[in-house]
Amino acid sequence: MVLIMKTVDDLKSPNISFISVTQMLSLIQTYSAGMLIEGIAEHIKEDFIRWDDFDKSPRFAAHSQEGVIELMPTGNSDKFSFKYVNGHPKNTKVGLQTVTAFGVLSDVASGYPLMLSEMTILTALRTAATSALVAEYLAPKNSSILAMIGCGAQSEFQILAFKHILGITHVKLYDIDPSAMTKCADNLKNYDINIELCSNAHEVVCGAHIITTCTADKKNATILTSDMVSDGVHINAIGGDCPGKTELEDKLLERATVFVEYEPQTRIEGDIQQLTSTSPVIEMHHVIRGTKAGRTNDNQLTIFDGVGFAIEDYSALRYMYNLVKNTNQFQQIELVASPENPRNLFGLLDSSNINHADCKGVA
Ligand code: NAD
Repeated sequence: MVLIMKTVDDLKSPNISFISVTQMLSLIQTYSAGMLIEGIAEHIKEDFIRWDDFDKSPRFAAHSQEGVIELMPTGNSDKFSFKYVNGHPKNTKVGLQTVTAFGVLSDVASGYPLMLSEMTILTALRTAATSALVAEYLAPKNSSILAMIGCGAQSEFQILAFKHILGITHVKLYDIDPSAMTKCADNLKNYDINIELCSNAHEVVCGAHIITTCTADKKNATILTSDMVSDGVHINAIGGDCPGKTELEDKLLERATVFVEYEPQTRIEGDIQQLTSTSPVIEMHHVIRGTKAGRTNDNQLTIFDGVGFAIEDYSALRYMYNLVKNTNQFQQIELVASPENPRNLFGLLDSSNINHADCKGVA
């Protein structure tokens, strides 16, 4: 059995834990995507309950014409984490993904990194977990029909989360690219979900209790207009997550009760960037802690303007760390130098300390 570093002695080891893409896929095979989404959702809930313990700030975003590269840090007195993530909607045209990510979890007491993980797949799991957790508080009772608009990389994860956590049984799909819909339907054919393909956005929202918008386009799009949506529905709007990149008509937002993760970040990045800075919104941690109401009546139109917040990534990394720490389902990589005498870093340059087997190709 391999143990992840925890004690000071453990931290003196030169290795940190690494979850590669292959290992993440193997963990999903072992535990199932549904179970991991549920576990991450529980950890997000625990961390939202202790919201005040975290350092919080809007994420750092380096914008370019084609996309954005972001850093998402947060921490409390125990652990610190950050995620590197990009968002490049045109990438799929050249065979690259819109969103890729990796992240680090660290020990606050020593400042040493504990774990480095792939987070492209983990982000899809945690975004799905967040959507379903939020919908537990906001969706109409006994919701069974989900409309999924945008059938790209995130879509199957979203649908599985709504099945596992909300009990959704019927999913209507719509994407401007029909091949994205058939890909999604095909991937979910063994998951016991009724799937219906739709030919436009009006058709897909008809009769749905929950509508997820998860499209990618670097513009102020109008995927949903107010006249398309009935009262009583819950909208999980997660594709609008950058300045100048939105999905909902402003009139629809004005009609609804709007819920967000962290207001200072969502004002910059979310669909509410179209509204005045004083438009009313409710941060979800209040609802989860019971200090503010979620859905209050059957006719209420609720919108979760989700942009993805650092605490959700912290929760996902914390969950994965706890899941693998007493197993061998991770690799160890030599990321941190560990001289025997911590003040003799230079001593490592002594050739007798270098393992030449690790330095092939160096003259
Ligand atoms: P993707 O590029 O794989 O898929 C996007 C899909 O949207 C594509 O299939 C595309 O054809 C479709 N689409 C574009 N415009 C559309 C329209 N007008 N109507 C219907 N479909 C349309 O991207 P992805 O990885 O699935 O991510 C989707 C979006 O979610 C991105 O904007 C991404 O930035 C965002 N995202 C948000 C979070 C979060 O935490 N809120 C997390 C991950 C990704």
